[in-house]
Amino acid sequence: MQMNEPLAGYNLPSSDGRYGPYGGIFVAETLMHALDELRLNYETMRNDKSFISEFSSELKNYVGRPSPIYYAKRLSEELGGGQIYLKREDLNHTGAHKINNTMGQALLARHMGKTRIIAETGAGQHGVASATVAARYGMDCVVYMGSEDVKRQATNVYRMKLLGAKVVPVESGSRTLKDALNEAMRDWVTNVANTFYIIGTVAGPHPYPMMVRDFNSVVGNEVREQMPSAVGKHPDAIVACVGGGSNAMGVFYPYIKEKGVKLIGVEAGGSGIESGKHAATLCAGRPGVLHGNRTYLIQDDGGQIVETHSISAGLDYPGVGPEHAWLKDNGRAEYVSVTDQEALDAFHKLTRVEGIMPALETAHAIAYAMTIAPTYDKDKIILVNLSGRGDKDMDTVAKVSGITL
Ligand SMILES: *Cc1c(COP(=O)(O)O)cnc(C)c1O
Repeated sequence: MQMNEPLAGYNLPSSDGRYGPYGGIFVAETLMHALDELRLNYETMRNDKSFISEFSSELKNYVGRPSPIYYAKRLSEELGGGQIYLKREDLNHTGAHKINNTMGQALLARHMGKTRIIAETGAGQHGVASATVAARYGMDCVVYMGSEDVKRQATNVYRMKLLGAKVVPVESGSRTLKDALNEAMRDWVTNVANTFYIIGTVAGPHPYPMMVRDFNSVVGNEVREQMPSAVGKHPDAIVACVGGGSNAMGVFYPYIKEKGVKLIGVEAGGSGIESGKHAATLCAGRPGVLHGNRTYLIQDDGGQIVETHSISAGLDYPGVGPEHAWLKDNGRAEYVSVTDQEALDAFHKLTRVEGIMPALETAHAIAYAMTIAPTYDKDKIILVNLSGRGDKDMDTVAKVSGITL
């Protein structure tokens, strides 16, 4: 496996972590030392043969890779038009793509001699993936979580505790993800000697967006082998949901140089963009600086971050990875949004027609694929990155359907 196969005409980020005008390192002086150490170590390891083969072996034997591609025949035929294929990241250990990245970062932490993992989490999925790899390697794990989220995500909190992690409720600010992130940064500065901070998406200061992309590129690299051997060609379009953007970046990146393949990111349109209640950062945001990098943000006229809304907790983030910001501006990828209701309809549709229950995040990508499929000829292929499974979302779905479990 190659993590950073050179892409003709596309070799980003620059050495200072920039993707066009986006990305970079916007942090307090106190964090610079920790980031320098991380950057230097990762620069070495991303080209180190034994590190890459250890990572591959863990992905195979622990995560269960490669994940299959699956032709959603009944769904495609019902819609009439292009053929929909699914990349089954939902079949990974822990049920989503997030384990690819946490596994990579935990291995790097071990190589750097760190014994303690910290992470921040909103919905709890990244916290669970971090706690899982910490258990796998016998490392201490502390997960910061806004106290509001601790209340809302009781099952995931318990899951992290079972895995041996300590969950720290954060009481500052709005008591949600962004406050948890600030607290994790503070911990890292104080304990950098033995601590590795695992970020869960392609955001944050350089080198995180690049590193998380590289670890998740295993998804796109597999598709590059699987599609030609299954159907003799690459997909005509690739569709993925975008919260911070890590599952999308993982499947897009190995295809950036393949200009004939359309890349489409689907954001959370919530109650509709015009309602102001959404998390469609690239569709409706403006550039600014948040969490250590320059990117698109959902902000008001005064530059204050606006509270976001989505039925899927994993897409409910006011920023987005800087590489997506650049892919939007240079036109290589297209970004659209799908409402809560459309995502819910797609959740039910895929479950009933294919027997596959997608995560609500993923249901946004399915919904958009369902919209465009009828406009594609029958020999065209739309590949959807099925980023995760929907078991975690059953309570939410039941509640909005008026059903008491
Ligand atoms: C966390 C999550 C997402 C959103 O994160 P990205 O970094 O945008 O991929 C999407 N799908 C699932 C299943 C998730 O758990």
